[in-house]
Amino acid sequence: RGAVSSHELVKVYGNGPAAVRALDGVSTEFRAGELTAIMGPSGSGKSTLLHCLAGLDTAGSGTVHIGRTELTSLGDKALTRLRRDRIGFVFQSFNLLPTLTAEDNILLALRLAGRTADREWFARVVDLLGLRDRLRHKPSELSGGQQQRVACARALVGKPDVVFADEPTGNLDSRTGADVLAFLRASVSDLGQTVVMVTHDPIAASYADRVVLLADGRVAGEIHWPTQESVL
Ligand code: ADP
Ligand code: ADP
Repeated sequence: RGAVSSHELVKVYGNGPAAVRALDGVSTEFRAGELTAIMGPSGSGKSTLLHCLAGLDTAGSGTVHIGRTELTSLGDKALTRLRRDRIGFVFQSFNLLPTLTAEDNILLALRLAGRTADREWFARVVDLLGLRDRLRHKPSELSGGQQQRVACARALVGKPDVVFADEPTGNLDSRTGADVLAFLRASVSDLGQTVVMVTHDPIAASYADRVVLLADGRVAGEIHWPTQESVL
């Protein structure tokens, strides 16, 4: 249902001699129930790949599937609906609304979509992320780590099939980073989600089932970790 794949994705920025092939024929597959890290040097195409997989950016050629849906076949409205209903995003910048409490930030997208949260799952998300006594705080009253955990809760509370995370631990101390990663891990195990995260952080990558290595806009290799049970 939530499997994500790309076939021969090519993305070129600019043209003429200054053109950059950010993606140079990337074919990948991310299975449901799997947490995958995308790693590689700066400029290797990680962010571009994540944005194309998530339907936030369009490739020049190639295809992206989320479940049975091919993204380039969708119009703007259908793409917006797919992102809203089936995809969760965790970004390095938290994009929380400053006037809303943590709880309202977490629930806003669901409410705008006319959905209600599963209260039991909401409580589990909030507890696992250590946010129970922070729900009535505004973002300005929260630490950076707490804000990132609120952003993480917001991405997961609607139980999306697929979660895309761009450097989810980039601004966090190692303790808070470990909380966020353990939470993503637990969420994958509980819900059988597909989680794809871009990271520079080898510790973050150690929580993944698999690492896809990019170099110069191509898949340069793959690393499979043994079982992840011990992390929980
Ligand atoms: P990474 O996330 O691995 O650092 P990016 O996907 O951000 O790599 O970038 C891949 C390549 O594409 C780099 O050479 C980068 O400079 C270039 N690039 C990325 N975004 C743009 C853009 N909007 N305009 C021009 N070049 C870009
Ligand atoms: P990271 O390396 O953490 O993936 P970057 O700092 O390379 O991120 O890029 C941040 C943003 O700037 C991205 O949205 C990317 O598309 C854009 N970007 C990256 N390289 C270029 C570039 N050469 N020209 C224009 N925009 C770029």
